[in-house]
Parts: sequence; structure tokens; C-alpha cells
Amino acid sequence: MTYDHFFSASLARLHAEHRYRVFADIERIAGRFPHALWHSPDGPRPIVIWCSNDYLGMGQDPKVIGAMVETATRMGAGAGGTRNISGTHHPMVELEREIADLHGKEAALVFTSGYVSNQAGIATIAKLMPNCLILSDAWNHNSMIEGVRRAGVEKKIWRHNDVDHLEELLAAEILDRPKLIVFEALYSMDGDVAPVERICELAEHYGAMTYIDEVHSAGMYGRRGAGIAAREGVLHKIDVVEGTLAKAFGCLGGYIAANADIIDAVRSYAPGFIFTTALPPAVCAAATAAIRHLKSSQWERDRHQERAAQVKSVLNAAGLPVMPSETHIVPLLVGDPEKCKEASNLLLAEHGIYVQPINYPTVPRGTERLRITPTPYHDDGMIDALAQALLGVWGRVGLPLRHRALAAE
Ligand SMILES: *Cc1c(COP(=O)(O)O)cnc(C)c1O
Repeated sequence: MTYDHFFSASLARLHAEHRYRVFADIERIAGRFPHALWHSPDGPRPIVIWCSNDYLGMGQDPKVIGAMVETATRMGAGAGGTRNISGTHHPMVELEREIADLHGKEAALVFTSGYVSNQAGIATIAKLMPNCLILSDAWNHNSMIEGVRRAGVEKKIWRHNDVDHLEELLAAEILDRPKLIVFEALYSMDGDVAPVERICELAEHYGAMTYIDEVHSAGMYGRRGAGIAAREGVLHKIDVVEGTLAKAFGCLGGYIAANADIIDAVRSYAPGFIFTTALPPAVCAAATAAIRHLKSSQWERDRHQERAAQVKSVLNAAGLPVMPSETHIVPLLVGDPEKCKEASNLLLAEHGIYVQPINYPTVPRGTERLRITPTPYHDDGMIDALAQALLGVWGRVGLPLRHRALAAE
């Protein structure tokens, strides 16, 4: 029996569908964000990153790096254990307090990543409620889908952001059946926002619990960076807030924040929390520094929004197919996996502009796109260079511009 053909055949399928993933070998340069080096086949070359989830550049903030270096020097590299067995270090305890305060909840629990926090958080919370029904938005992130699957309870999927459909599903259940509504505050591939207030009203009316993923909004929205629910003034109505320390906070790790009993129960029952080593003290201290900074500094949030608006306006004016987005995400529709990849390759190789192609299964087939994430540190010159490069590449790859499409009609 030989086994290799299973794997070569599976890879051949990806190549045939033009969705084989190639990773760019990047070297970020602390203090020069979004400039970086690309280790190309022909050696290192300077590039500008246009697709980072380090949305506010906090991964290179001197205070954040300082906290990381100082803590590693003082406390060492690793945590040295699971949370239960010698791994609950003081920077972790401080971080969990900081997160609870950020989201106005009694307690918080930190996981290895946002992915694990969703997978373990949703599964554990739902499992602890007999006969629980999970109501999940159709566009929820894979980590939430995995959490729903692992819960092993009945689930119903509501059409993306369609509160009428959600209400229909809720109304079909008896009032005292436990129900958990799971959704994202901000969907990161389209940049649209959930009707959070309306969802909270429905949850209240039909007696459901709410679980919100604020991964792409925490740090960036709300007066203290608590996210979209805070901005909408409904944070107190949300039962569980999930977030990451790896995007706007620039570090690594994930969390949930909720009332003390929910957090204590997940702490006590979630295998994905219990049976793994705690994050290092240096990472926790750095994340705490990032959260504290963004609680009081509005500059990054304002500049972020202003830059995103500028990118949309310049690309739109150039006739590029910017997909409508109410937030800091700027998706450019390509609609073909091969062209999407080709456009991305040309941008990198010929213009030193790095925008990773987003293909199926991350987005539906036919909606392949370049997902651009402006940050406070992308200046006007970079934005103009991006528009020029995109126009050149659009022509080379044979993609339509908006005014040409109109002229043809
Ligand atoms: C990235 C992401 C996660 C996972 O967070 P990580 O900290 O990167 O593991 C969870 N939810 C959504 C919506 C995400 O986009």
C-alpha cells in the first residue's frame, strides 16, 4: 500500500481550481509599518503591505514592543504550563482584568487564539445548556462554525444579517428552550456590520442568549475601542463578547468576556482552554499595553477611518470595482480565482504592493476579491501608487473598469 497519491491528488485538485495557496515570505520592519521586505525568488525586495490585519499598526507600537521585551527579560520566554498547572502568570491575570473592563463585563478568559476562543467558547456554552438551539448567521467565520459543530446540539442558520429570518426561526421555538444567537459584529470579507441592536431586541423578546464576535471591530470602534456593540450602545445587552488580541491589538491570543459564572464555567469545562499551555507572559503584557493605549487614544481610530475613506474614494474615482463597505475594509471585486491570483502576483512582483488574493472557500465562488486594509500609516503617496498600480494590473489581466462597463451599456 502506498499513500502518497492521496496527497498529490488532493493538491492537484486545488491547482486545477486555481485555489492552491502560496504564502508570501514577508519580513516586517518594526517602526516602518506598512513597509516590509519580501523574500522573493530573486532575493529581498521592499514592499508596502496592503492586506495586514494589524489594522492599527499596534504590533509595532513602541509601548507594546517595550512591554513585550521588558516582560520577557524579567519573566522568561514561555508560561511553563497550562493555566491549571503553574501557567497562570501575573501578566495573564492583568490581561484578563483589562479585557473584562474593556467590554464592561465581570470577567474574561484568554485562549491561545481567537480561533480557539470561538471553537471552545461556543461549543462549551451551548453544551452546558440542555436542549440548546444555536442560531448562527450564514456568514459566520470558520472558527464559529467549528464551535457550533462541536457543541453537537441542534443548529439553525439564519440568512446573513437578515433579522426577519432570525425572528422567524426564534418565533418557531417555545420560549423556555435555551437559545444561543451567534454572530459577528463586523464581517471582515465584505466590511458590513450586523444589526446588533435589532438582534439584541429579538434576543430579549424571545429569551435567547447573545454571543458576538468582535474580532474585526475591537480596538477600532467605540469610544474606548470596545467594538461595534459599544458604539451602538448595546454592549450591556450582549451576553458573551469574543475577540482577538492578534488583529487591532497587534499581538496573539483570543478571549471571551461575560458574567462571572459563564466565564468560570467555560474555564472549568472547555478542553480547548484546559489542555493547552498558557500564552507567554511577554505576549500578555504586550496585549495589555495595546488595549490600554487604545482605550484612551482616539487618534488611531480616527485616522484609520479617514484613510479607509480616502482609499475608497481614490479607487472609486479611478473606476475600480470597490465593493460597498461601511467600514475600514476595502474589497475590490475580481470574480475569478485565476485572475485574482494573477492580479495579486503582478502587484507584488512589479509594483512592490502586497495584497493577498481572497478565493474560495474564504469567500463564495464568483466573488473572488482583493481585500485591501488601509491603516493609519498608509499615506496619500502610497494610496495614489496603489491606484496607479491597480489600474495597470487591471488592464494587463483583462478586468473591466467601472466607467468602461458603463460606456458599453
Ligand atoms: C481571524 C478571525 C478569528 C480568529 O482569530 P485569531 O486570533 O486570528 O485566531 C475569529 N473570528 C473572525 C471573524 C476572524 O476573522
